[in-house]
Amino acid sequence: MKIWKFGGTSVGAPERMHAIAKLISDGEKKIVVLSAVSGTTNALVEISNLCLNQDFDAAKNKTKELYDKYVPFVAHLYATEKGKQQGTSIIDEHFETIKSQIKPGFTAVEEKLFLAQGELISTNLFTAYLQESGSKAALLPALEFMKIDADNEPVLSFTEENLPRFLHQHPDVELFITQGYICRNAKGEVDNLQRGGSDYTATLVGAAIYSEEVQIWTDIDGMHNNDPRVVKRTYPIAEMSFDEAAELAYFGAKILHPTCIRPTQERNIPVRLLNTMAPKEKGTVITEKGSGNAFTAVAAKDGITAINIKSTRMLLAYGFLRKVFEVFEKFKTPVDMITTSEVAVSLTIDNAKHVDEIVKELSSFAVVDVDSNQTIVCVVGNFLAAKPGIAFKVFNALKPIPIRMISYGGSENNISVLIDSQYKNEALNLINEGVFFAEMAEAV
Ligand code: ADP
Ligand code: ASP
Ligand code: MG
Repeated sequence: MKIWKFGGTSVGAPERMHAIAKLISDGEKKIVVLSAVSGTTNALVEISNLCLNQDFDAAKNKTKELYDKYVPFVAHLYATEKGKQQGTSIIDEHFETIKSQIKPGFTAVEEKLFLAQGELISTNLFTAYLQESGSKAALLPALEFMKIDADNEPVLSFTEENLPRFLHQHPDVELFITQGYICRNAKGEVDNLQRGGSDYTATLVGAAIYSEEVQIWTDIDGMHNNDPRVVKRTYPIAEMSFDEAAELAYFGAKILHPTCIRPTQERNIPVRLLNTMAPKEKGTVITEKGSGNAFTAVAAKDGITAINIKSTRMLLAYGFLRKVFEVFEKFKTPVDMITTSEVAVSLTIDNAKHVDEIVKELSSFAVVDVDSNQTIVCVVGNFLAAKPGIAFKVFNALKPIPIRMISYGGSENNISVLIDSQYKNEALNLINEGVFFAEMAEAV
């Protein structure tokens, strides 16, 4: 059975839901993972922040604003009076849950409950619509089979054990609809797989049932060679490897959740990226096979903090790196890029939550400097060590940009540079012309 996932814009209006209902009704049994209606999760984040700041009146106003968007949505989604009534009771129930928690004592637990309402609403509304139009559809409750552990890592075995039970309950159903993004945590509370996490739900569910394919339907015709929000001339990539896609997702290609590729890679399940607005376009297929290009794509990840750690003994003494990494391990802070010299090591983190504590501990044996507002630009391709000129092309294109760190050679797929975020757009455009289009011009 295939998994089809639709993102926020793909379910963002009643007409979009009508369109995807047609798309999925091809006679094949499938699990359909949905995001929240676009804009909803952002609004729920805002409402939660207002509650955390004790601004309950503003939170109530914002909630009313969001509810008011769903009223015409429901009116246009359903054809029958009965459908419209059912839709109204769905939104009323979920907004009641939200309203009842807008009060003192609001914590991160309620925040996560709020964030889950977006996917709960979209899947309930959509399933009711499918049933109204006579489809054999059923809702799968993601909170019963999606789980993360105490380190916020998904527990795939939990999905493997619990999902089949729900599938077997409905032998005649063709379309199983479920919520992306939401899960329970180790304490049993409602939680989530971080922003963009519906992609991760799709690949985890796909891996759990050894699906033949996971399809991620979005608002663009596949993975492009560069960020289309920043660069004008980008093009879709027909094929790429799991490793290439994983690097691009991790280093900022928003089309995929940062860590969603691994579950499908481990079970060799192809992932196809497709466009809901242009369903006939080929999109991108991600398998073990690479793009075959020297340069596949470039992505950029903002919000990076660079930490320079200079040994106070002025020599990279034996055991120094171990001590450095132990500090990051202690604060559960992953390191992305790293470069070393005889006397110092520079590394980057994207989660700066514990940076002050980290700096304090490092300062007991090193001189530490911190730079925030950094961006990693990551060029992905097939950089066989024997092939000359790869690094030259990237650095030649980036000539006008001050580069803070360079990482190359860790894998055959990745050249990363760290720059100040103010240069990001310029860097992506320079690489587009100086690497990707220059490469194409050379090929003809
Ligand atoms: P969804 O809501 O369907 O999950 P997202 O907004 O998360 O969609 O991801 C799709 C968006 O990702 C595209 O509209 C595009 O602007 C952005 N994007 C960023 N980098 C890339 C890239 N390299 N290729 C394609 N899309 C990209
Ligand atoms: N609704 C969630 C978000 O906006 C999850 C997702 O769309 O993938 O981040
Ligand atoms: Mg997304």
